[in-house]
Amino acid sequence: MTSIGHITITSLARNNPIASLIWGFISHWILDETLSEYKLESLKAKHLVPYILWQGIISIAFLWYTHYWWSLLGLLPDVIEGIHIAIKGIKVWNSGELLFWFHRPNNKKMWSKRFTMIVEIVLVAITILIIRR
Ligand SMILES: [Zn+2]
Repeated sequence: MTSIGHITITSLARNNPIASLIWGFISHWILDETLSEYKLESLKAKHLVPYILWQGIISIAFLWYTHYWWSLLGLLPDVIEGIHIAIKGIKVWNSGELLFWFHRPNNKKMWSKRFTMIVEIVLVAITILIIRR
């Protein structure tokens, strides 16, 4: 899944750092296995910048609105994976030999970018309804 998905799910830990770590890991385990947008082919250069802007703006707006800054721990598995790729080289990405099993492509169904964005908006809306109660 995306940074928006992981941050919103991790915010269910309600800004508790330890719970955020656990929720963050669970969010990767579940979302990356089911809502995969993880293959490099799907990130064409002309789509990459608007997509990163979308992720950044919605993620920051969500954090700014909720003030659940510990939700950023939900990005930790991807940061660790990024460090792993930086150390081992892009070949581990291309071959799918990633550190966490939930990041490995193994025949996962891919969602379209548009459908992923719709799911993200629904996730944000549901999460805000839950945490604002
Ligand atoms: Zn992940």
